[in-house]
Amino acid sequence: MQSVTVNNLIFDEYLSQREIATIVSEVAERINADYAGREPLFICVLNGAFIYASDLFKHITLPAEITFVRLKSYEGTATTGTVNMLIPLQVPIKDRDIIVIEDIVDTGLTMHGFIQQLKDEGARSVELTSFLFKPDSLQFPDATPKYIGKSIPTKFVLGYGLDFDEKGRNLPSLYVLRSEE
Ligand code: 5GP
Repeated sequence: MQSVTVNNLIFDEYLSQREIATIVSEVAERINADYAGREPLFICVLNGAFIYASDLFKHITLPAEITFVRLKSYEGTATTGTVNMLIPLQVPIKDRDIIVIEDIVDTGLTMHGFIQQLKDEGARSVELTSFLFKPDSLQFPDATPKYIGKSIPTKFVLGYGLDFDEKGRNLPSLYVLRSEE
């Protein structure tokens, strides 16, 4: 099995480039079918989703647009549900069909706040696609992605845009932290 060492920890390959490509094109096909006749605005959540967003967007055949936000770490926002943006939205979203692109939904807290914010600002519809989803970690059911690349167990993964202390984003496959036993 192919493995990598990042910040002194060993990770084993979990999804190959080929498996990832298949997953991404299948998600794109579903979105293309569901949004036929519409002009959705994709919002890529930086940093982690930039590679997934890039691959996914190339498979979108709709007259779609894409923009980018960077959301501040969610500590302290659990009670308010508001999400601070380090890079704010650059385009109006009123009456738009929004598809948020995430790398991974874990507890769902980040997306819970962000989705609510988009609805409050007058988006016509808001759906979420996430390359990965950890259903066993979910605490905010409204953050369940409609378009899931792959559901995975509650283990730490990196590569394909996802980092470990900012390292590993450039790995083209997805890796999972090797367990002790
Ligand atoms: P949530 O708000 O859903 O709990 O957290 C989502 C964010 O946590 C993701 O955007 C990502 O930054 C981080 N995260 C959660 N699980 C993992 C993981 O297994 N690997 C990496 N690299 N980041 C993760």
